[in-house]
Amino acid sequence: MTLLEGSVGVEDLVLLEPLEQESLLKNLQLRYEKKEIYTYIGNVLVSVNPYQQLPIYGPDFIDKYRDYTFYELKPHIFAVANVAYQSLRFRDQDQCVLITGESGAGKTEASKLVMSYVAAVCGKGEQVNSVKEQLLQSNPVLEAFGNAKTIRNNNSSRFGKYMDIEFDFKGSPLGGVITNYLLEKSRVVKQLKGERNFHIFYQLLAGADAQLLKALKLERDTSGYAYLNGEVSRVDGMDDASNFKAMQSAMTVIGFSEEEMRWVLEVTALVLKLGNVELSNECQANGIPASGICDERGIREIGEIAGLNSEELERALCSRTMETAKEKVVTALNAVQAQYARDALAKNIYSRLFNWIVNRINESIKVGTGERKKVMGVLDIYGFEILEDNSFEQFVINYCNEKLQQVFIEITLKEEQEEYKREGIPWEKVDYFDNGTICNLIEHNQRGILAMLDEECLRPGVVSDSTFLAKLNQLYSKHSYYESKVTQNTQRQYDHTMGLSCFRICHYAGKVTYNVNSFIDKNNDLLFRDLSQAMWKARHPLLQSLFPEGDPKQASRKRPPTAGAQFKSSVAILMKNLYSKNPNYIRCIKPNEHQQRGQFSWELVATQAQYLGLLENVRVRRAGYAFRQVYGPFLERFRLLSRSTWPRWNGGDREGVEKILGELSVSSKEVTFGKTKIFIKSPKTLFYLEEQRRLRI
Ligand code: ADP
Ligand code: MG
Repeated sequence: MTLLEGSVGVEDLVLLEPLEQESLLKNLQLRYEKKEIYTYIGNVLVSVNPYQQLPIYGPDFIDKYRDYTFYELKPHIFAVANVAYQSLRFRDQDQCVLITGESGAGKTEASKLVMSYVAAVCGKGEQVNSVKEQLLQSNPVLEAFGNAKTIRNNNSSRFGKYMDIEFDFKGSPLGGVITNYLLEKSRVVKQLKGERNFHIFYQLLAGADAQLLKALKLERDTSGYAYLNGEVSRVDGMDDASNFKAMQSAMTVIGFSEEEMRWVLEVTALVLKLGNVELSNECQANGIPASGICDERGIREIGEIAGLNSEELERALCSRTMETAKEKVVTALNAVQAQYARDALAKNIYSRLFNWIVNRINESIKVGTGERKKVMGVLDIYGFEILEDNSFEQFVINYCNEKLQQVFIEITLKEEQEEYKREGIPWEKVDYFDNGTICNLIEHNQRGILAMLDEECLRPGVVSDSTFLAKLNQLYSKHSYYESKVTQNTQRQYDHTMGLSCFRICHYAGKVTYNVNSFIDKNNDLLFRDLSQAMWKARHPLLQSLFPEGDPKQASRKRPPTAGAQFKSSVAILMKNLYSKNPNYIRCIKPNEHQQRGQFSWELVATQAQYLGLLENVRVRRAGYAFRQVYGPFLERFRLLSRSTWPRWNGGDREGVEKILGELSVSSKEVTFGKTKIFIKSPKTLFYLEEQRRLRI
């Protein structure tokens, strides 16, 4: 590997000298300009999105990386995938590959490259190939329903994904399990300017034949649909019609039946048609505002597809039943409230459909419990987010990243410590930023922000986002990682940029100001009971199964867990899962905001480097020693530097290395001899050795 600072910079940032933000960025830039998009930090891979097809993923590269060990070739995602797979296979260690970065940084592409590398090198035979196909084909299905064009990324995943791939003892794939996190369901009813709804809607309209469209009671033209209002209907270089075919054939490969595929498209069509149900104000005889449906045909067609009485559906959309112990009170909703109910229903149907699809895929790729399995997990999840306006979604995403950072630091330091122990060299304590306090601030069972939010959601009486904020302000007025206008007024410098409805958390990656507006609503995530009951009455088997709580018999008054509580428990399961595996990290970086090749925007990369904690990462990695290597290969490389070891050396590897370093008068403070490895403190020493070597050859 190239250790010298050459025209392409260092291949491993651990060897950066001097180590600072500036040199780190410069190094990435230099490499990016030379189309070297991959750089290591020890065994962590940093990847900068090339925004162009590079000729580095073909079968020739797969063969190269499967035959060499980690440091023998240039940094590459295949090298990481290879180490993970080989350790799973030959060291019997479960693995996980953690891919983080902001939207458009290349996470999903990276996860697909890892999967296809592993698929290429693991096992053979008909049975095995069919399992591989099923695993790989889950991608087009999930992308159709879970991805959308955003301003940042034409194919942006709007959900987080963790996939366990399970192998037998020979290293052949058996199947897997997919877990999805937080689908951005608000997109179903509304998109920002220049963005689209989920791909599936456009795929369906463009790709379905006339007969299917007719059966679903849809028109081909996207402009007729209120939920596809984002004024972009096409994406450059994306063929919706052929992606529709690909999605359908992927479903077939996975094992969806014809009937199930029809159900899925019917429910998708329902959502689209629901958006066109216009609700307008009407007056009841008594003068109280109410609402009604303008276009009777639309609602009738929805009723036909869903197997629902359309009058009943209309009633569910336009009124709300409140039940007390003694009586039922039905109130009419005005148009705005009814539109809100309609959109809530559409979002709920779609996100539940998405969950159903994930579960259905899992049913197909599930592995029997009897066998002993080895597991490789691949996590493709949104990185740390700071937007102009940060809400509940950013809050939970950043919480997840805070936890991932905690896993990273703990595991890296633990590994480092264990290696020192194995090698019999003393451990020196490393100073690092421990983010446990911040995690606690958010997740503590009784006193965390999420617990406070739940408490506020469940509390009887008048609750609002501002009572929630007031509670936080009171509880955390002295917390060192919590700020708000109120706490600032008393203790810290006054900050004009923070609104009254905001609180701020000092995350490991930076300070983020959250606006509490709609925190309560989003956490509650409640659908009016009238709507779930109406859906449950549908004769459409899939639609009905999505709303089990609509069953009056089931209507135990128990409240489903809040969105925050659900997220917290899925993060806890994820963390437990990750702690039980050996982690491999891929840190993705987006080089510019324009999805353009060749552009490297310094400020943008600087921010991401900070959010990804790259500098801290390097610091932790070289806690004691920047470089270490097993004696044999080290001796082989530097043998020519000493007359004792060149041209012939008959002694042991370690003695040989001692001879060389002694002869070159390398300070004894700089090196430590472990049981099997030589440890070198600073990169300078290594550069010196490399320089000497270069002069001799
Ligand atoms: P993320 O999942 O982080 O939001 P994606 O993986 O969807 O980002 O990548 C965004 C786009 O960037 C892709 O659609 C593709 O065009 C491009 N891209 C990402 N990684 C690579 C790569 N390794 N080679 C070529 N293009 C890439
Ligand atoms: Mg993605």
